Amino acid sequence: MYSTIFSKVIFPTLELIMRRHITSTAAKYASLQYQPYEQLKARQEAKMRRLMHHAFDNVPFYREKFKQAGLKPEDIQTIEDLTRLPVVTKEEIRANFPHQVTASNIVRQRRIPAWTSGSTGESLDFYLDSLSRDSRAAAFTFFNSWAGVRNGDKGLHLGLGYPRTFIQKAFGLVARQHYIASLSMDKDNVIKVCSQLAKMKLDFIEGNAFTISWIASVAKHNNIKIRPEKAVISTMEILLSKQLLEDAFQCPVLNRYGNREVGGALVQNCPESDKMHVNTELCILEIVDEEGNTCAPGWGGRIVLTDLNNWVMPFIRYDTEDGAIAGEPCPCGRTLPVVENLEPRLTWYIQTPSGKTISSRALGGFLFKMRDYMTHFVRFQVVQKSPSEVTFNFVPLQSITQELLSRLNDDLQLLLGTEVNLVVNAVDDIPLTPSGKLVIIKSELEPRAIG
Ligand SMILES: [Zn+2]
Repeated sequence: MYSTIFSKVIFPTLELIMRRHITSTAAKYASLQYQPYEQLKARQEAKMRRLMHHAFDNVPFYREKFKQAGLKPEDIQTIEDLTRLPVVTKEEIRANFPHQVTASNIVRQRRIPAWTSGSTGESLDFYLDSLSRDSRAAAFTFFNSWAGVRNGDKGLHLGLGYPRTFIQKAFGLVARQHYIASLSMDKDNVIKVCSQLAKMKLDFIEGNAFTISWIASVAKHNNIKIRPEKAVISTMEILLSKQLLEDAFQCPVLNRYGNREVGGALVQNCPESDKMHVNTELCILEIVDEEGNTCAPGWGGRIVLTDLNNWVMPFIRYDTEDGAIAGEPCPCGRTLPVVENLEPRLTWYIQTPSGKTISSRALGGFLFKMRDYMTHFVRFQVVQKSPSEVTFNFVPLQSITQELLSRLNDDLQLLLGTEVNLVVNAVDDIPLTPSGKLVIIKSELEPRAIG
């Protein structure tokens, strides 16, 4: 009842006062999802063509890229033409921020300062475009609707704990949104948090993949029944085991992928098939091979993004360093493009001397699906310094037995092969990156392409 009043009366009134267009934008996204793909692509290309001219005319960094490639903006008419421009790396953006990568013709008031941590820990400063805040917010509303989650539904957010303004706090209260800072959680208070969640009658829980997985494993192990009415929404990192969340919370799981730089909820699993759909209104998502060429369906490569809504600091063919496989169309009827097997950053792979490449997703599947270790770990991290040296650190959920330690050692050795010298350590803590992410595989080796 409250959700209906909130989404139909209170929220639209607030939007009117604040001059926001979230509901109508989300409705637009919903109406487009079943339209012929050619129509979605034409909309992307129309925005992309304007972006090409804008970047060439106003952003020195991209003007140089065009020149180096011997291209003019009018040469890029279609998504296929985009591959003629080079892929841009995080290091290049960092080296050229702010003057070379920021559009000279856009007023400063539109710049929203933001930052993210790089795969090796260094931070990247960038600007989001204030005019894209409606499309970013609407992307969440749209994806939430796939599990029937509406604005005004009672939700819990496991955030990093950034300070919130008075307006944000007041809005959270009216919108029935609760917040817990995941960085303040540790193995001593996590059971208390779980018990607290079990008592709350929540419609949904949303948070980063590793925190939600941790809560799921603790709740499952201690038989604490947390039962959100509609969904659990995993964000930020790549989710290692959707099954674990489904088992622990007994509700649909939305697995969402986004990128801090190219803002918004870009990709989410289909509620009907588990394939991952891309919101074409926010970005052009390409999966490219080592040479920057588009991968055919079924083939894997790096995810390269072009933000269609950031005019302040354009991101064109931006290398996310994450990987995926180009998917076949989904049987659900949605025409939004499909990607599969999302993998975290390419450096997050174990590479064995025999040429085996084990991603964090594959490792998670092995430990949690095939071996059921989830109820024993708070979190884990693999450190690889050379192909034959792998250290597996884990924070135990409870006191560990020698038997468990030796079983874990045997299982991992089996996975890695005998040519790898494996060290397994139970540790007190595994630090997160400054932006609160858990690096699952910390490798000092040169990345290999997946596929
Ligand atoms: Zn689908």
